[in-house]
Amino acid sequence: MPLGCRSDTLETRVMIVPFDEQGLERACELLCAGELCAFPTETVYGLGARADRAEAVGKIYAAKGRPATNPSIVHCADADSALSHAQEVSPLALRLARAFWPGPLTLVLPLRPKLLAAETTAGGSTVGLRVPNHPMAQALLREVRLPIAAPSANRSTQLSPTLAEHVEKSLGSSVFVLDGGATGFGIESTIVRVVGSAIEILRRGSIGPVELQEFGPVVDLGAGVTDATAPMVAPGLTRRHYAPAVPAFLVDRAQLPQRNEGSSGLLLFADTDASVGLSGQPIERLPREARAYARGLYAALHRLETSGAARILIEAVPSDPSWNAIKDRLFRAT
Ligand code: AMP
Ligand code: MG
Repeated sequence: MPLGCRSDTLETRVMIVPFDEQGLERACELLCAGELCAFPTETVYGLGARADRAEAVGKIYAAKGRPATNPSIVHCADADSALSHAQEVSPLALRLARAFWPGPLTLVLPLRPKLLAAETTAGGSTVGLRVPNHPMAQALLREVRLPIAAPSANRSTQLSPTLAEHVEKSLGSSVFVLDGGATGFGIESTIVRVVGSAIEILRRGSIGPVELQEFGPVVDLGAGVTDATAPMVAPGLTRRHYAPAVPAFLVDRAQLPQRNEGSSGLLLFADTDASVGLSGQPIERLPREARAYARGLYAALHRLETSGAARILIEAVPSDPSWNAIKDRLFRAT
């Protein structure tokens, strides 16, 4: 009997388990049996379920409170198995897969019918495919040998998890989490689709237009906002997403002293001078370098969210393009 179906385990069993041989084995058994398993990727923690079974994928949507209209990204161990779920792979899509996989790029491609549960792709005719490069995600996918649907392991619209503890904080202690420590990039994958000779960015992420431009003209649709009730091109584009549970506001450095009140939590740059904060106020600081900022962003917001602050004031970030994906997440969080 799969371990996930055992009833002899203690009520208080620890659901955050270290990523060792035993943890990996248990995770595979759970996934094979159609249960959920959260695991680290290089972007954020994913909430995985086998993508070929409707009941399994349904558990993701129930746990997250995710609308059934929002498709999930399918994770595979390598490009061949990922692309086997696409009906057609254009030469440009193939070049992108070769260049960026394994890595934080999701390719939206025409779906090959019948292999995946319709729920995985929200009934649509395309599929979002990704090959993560995180060593633990890789090990898990190689071992389980199944396509794994895995949106971020948090309640829908909330902050994404970059630590195993964040998964528990958002989804409760009933979800099995493989603990791989802090994720690398800290924000979600870049989602693209190929249209003719162009690459359309549907969601901004750590792979930016500059890297993609080498392969063809890039159209950045990632700054847009879609209506949450309409069928979505890329549902990460709804206005409110990736959001803390308390109201958050983006504030220019110059406005911070006027806007700041004792009940606010602050997210500042490491080098912003200390006089901005009031004594006893929860303050998080992040480096003024886009990659390092992205890595620490969600964890800082998670801490501010639980600090008791009534609102979060976030120091506005630079307008340089390297900050685009971060600006996108902050825009949707505020
Ligand atoms: P997340 O919930 O952040 O883990 O990532 C899931 C996101 O991937 C969705 O919100 C969509 O934006 C995107 N996505 C997944 N599959 C597709 C698809 N077939 N077409 C367009 N976007 C997709
Ligand atoms: Mg998400």
